[in-house]
Amino acid sequence: RKAELVDAAEADRKRRVAAVIEEVESRLATPTALLRSISDAMVSEMERGLCGDIHATLKMLITYVDNLPTGDEHGLFYALDLGGTNFRVLRVQLGGREKRVVKQQYEEVSIPPHLMVGTSMELFDFIAAALAKFVDTEGDDFHLPEGRQRELGFTFSFPVNQTSISSGTLIKWTKGFSINGTVGEDVVSELSNAMERQGLDMKVTALVNDTVGTLAGGRYMDNDVVAAVILGTGTNAAYVEYANAIPKWNGLLPRSGNMVINTEWGSFKSDKLPLSEFDKAMDFESLNPGEQIYEKMISGMYLGEIVRRILLKLAHDASLFGDVVPTKLEQPFVLRTPDMSAMHHDSSHDLKILGAKLKDVVGVPNTSLEVRYITRHICDIVAERGARLAAAGIYGILKKLGRDKVPSDGSKMPRTVIALDGGLYEHYKKFGSCLEATLTDLLGEDASSSVVAKLANDGSGIGAALLAASHSQYAEVD
Ligand code: BGC
Ligand code: MG
Repeated sequence: RKAELVDAAEADRKRRVAAVIEEVESRLATPTALLRSISDAMVSEMERGLCGDIHATLKMLITYVDNLPTGDEHGLFYALDLGGTNFRVLRVQLGGREKRVVKQQYEEVSIPPHLMVGTSMELFDFIAAALAKFVDTEGDDFHLPEGRQRELGFTFSFPVNQTSISSGTLIKWTKGFSINGTVGEDVVSELSNAMERQGLDMKVTALVNDTVGTLAGGRYMDNDVVAAVILGTGTNAAYVEYANAIPKWNGLLPRSGNMVINTEWGSFKSDKLPLSEFDKAMDFESLNPGEQIYEKMISGMYLGEIVRRILLKLAHDASLFGDVVPTKLEQPFVLRTPDMSAMHHDSSHDLKILGAKLKDVVGVPNTSLEVRYITRHICDIVAERGARLAAAGIYGILKKLGRDKVPSDGSKMPRTVIALDGGLYEHYKKFGSCLEATLTDLLGEDASSSVVAKLANDGSGIGAALLAASHSQYAEVD
């Protein structure tokens, strides 16, 4: 009798688990036809943004970068990269067409969490101080001509209304940054004032988004790079647009005929997006509710958190981890995307790594093999949705550029390279391979043979330095 009851309860639990999983699978599904309609929605939002429609969800920011690096850049330049959990400072000695990057050095500093939600002055003082310290260690193998001021490319990975190549005001914070008093301010003045307070004599000659830095760094390495995508803490893309395809641009037509556009695709929103109850609840409780919806379905800051929310539902509704819901699992953001990735990549027969992670992160020792398989399956669903959505975005950009299919006149499709960077793409292998497979699927066999997705590891730092060089105050003299 008792054994029968236990069996019945167990069967019931299994039924409930299966029901939740089925629901999750269907809510987070991204069939190829849906991805195609998402790409189309992305293209029309891009067009609206280029027209200056204030309701467009893609801002399509003009970057004032109308020329990408040529290889001729030379001299000593610095770069500072702020935008994720770390920031880095870099110096590079550029040797022109023959010698290229003669020498480079960098340092990475993690940003104390309290500074991400503190005051503008504290944040900028902290980074200026780290930069000043770094400049002090400049050795003899770096060379600044007599009487010249050091120059810096500032990679600032947030949406900025650019007013020139070296100035721009912050539109909003994203990715867990929330600092009073910076929105609407010129971030170059903020940085320059902080450098002055440090007694550091340096001029910011280029202000760039990380996507734009990656595009510049990517182009320096490979002439066929036309777009750059960041998949890290946040996500975004930049690409080279025809200047005459930007109705809102009312400046002079650049001589190159081109203008780099920072799409800020993280803020893309569409009723086509497979938004689940988990996404909605996470968004509602976030620092920026209603914003960065596409980013919240794709990027590294959020994937682990979505998995946690699904596991929590399984614990509540289907006793996945036993009769009590593990308290640790109730804590927002305990499950970080790198941990999710480690669980997802566990291919041992007993999912030992996954078991250990569940113990550490969620506080549940001795999980059954079944529970481990379910957890891995949830990681798979969430990562796959993110990767497929990102692929749909890239496909949208290729469509916008008319590089999504072989030309109908029978000519060859030009080789098209997308530079990708960010920890999510670099380290989460299953995410990267799913993204690439999906892009191939969307493009079809013929077109996909001309499109290359390429890791541009830390291209944004060198890219910012290159743009600082091409916009140097001494550029005319040289
Ligand atoms: C920001 C973008 C940035 C991206 C990747 C997003 O949250 O809005 O400006 O390029 O993250 O770092
Ligand atoms: Mg970065």
